[in-house]
Amino acid sequence: MNGSIDWHQVHSEFAHLAQAQGFSAQPMLSDPMLQTTAWIRRADGPRIYLSSGIHGDEPAGPLALLELMRNGFFQTNIDWRICPLLNPSGLASNTRENADGMDLNRDYLIHRSKETQAHVAWLAQQPVPDLFISLHEDWEGHGFYFYEINQGEDRPQLAHTLLAAVAPWFEPEPGPEIDGHNVREPGWIYHPAEPDVPEGWPEAIYLAKMGCPRSFTLESPSRGLLDDRSAALQAAVRCIIAGI
Ligand SMILES: [Zn+2]
Repeated sequence: MNGSIDWHQVHSEFAHLAQAQGFSAQPMLSDPMLQTTAWIRRADGPRIYLSSGIHGDEPAGPLALLELMRNGFFQTNIDWRICPLLNPSGLASNTRENADGMDLNRDYLIHRSKETQAHVAWLAQQPVPDLFISLHEDWEGHGFYFYEINQGEDRPQLAHTLLAAVAPWFEPEPGPEIDGHNVREPGWIYHPAEPDVPEGWPEAIYLAKMGCPRSFTLESPSRGLLDDRSAALQAAVRCIIAGI
């Protein structure tokens, strides 16, 4: 579905807009085929880190971050760190994995891939974020759902407002179990700060182990229209930031 998206163009537009809005680029990997860039704009406010594009067949996340950047969403009182395109070879080929067949989002303990090695090296130089949001999609899902890892105060109201914010596009994923996890409420997986598979750490577990107290992994359903999936992810990000 995303085979027609020109990811170099997406990167170029994101870079142009980010620089115009005062973000600075930090290249993580400079291999011409595996170029990844982190975008930083420091401030005294909450430290928020966002990532997307780690699964190359999930285009709505990077497109949602681009649209938020186009709309000037990234307010100046927040300390932002953004990695919008974490799996360039997977995005180019519309595959979940990278060109070597590796699921980068299961590589945050062992760091077998060049992409994850570079990303972890970058993360290790950053202050621990107060909040991490990662934008994903699920080809199996019919509705929207999200994972929350919360090592601080339990604030269930934010989960309710988040699901209400995406409801114009998607209902919460139905059922008592999603992706092998029992839900806390429909659409809401309240996940411990431990991996499902001991050696298969996703990025969110790495952040939790860094000490990041709270994260949201957002999952829009791949079967929806791309514009709707992007809009739902944007709404979810806006809601979370408004609620912190
Ligand atoms: Zn994903």
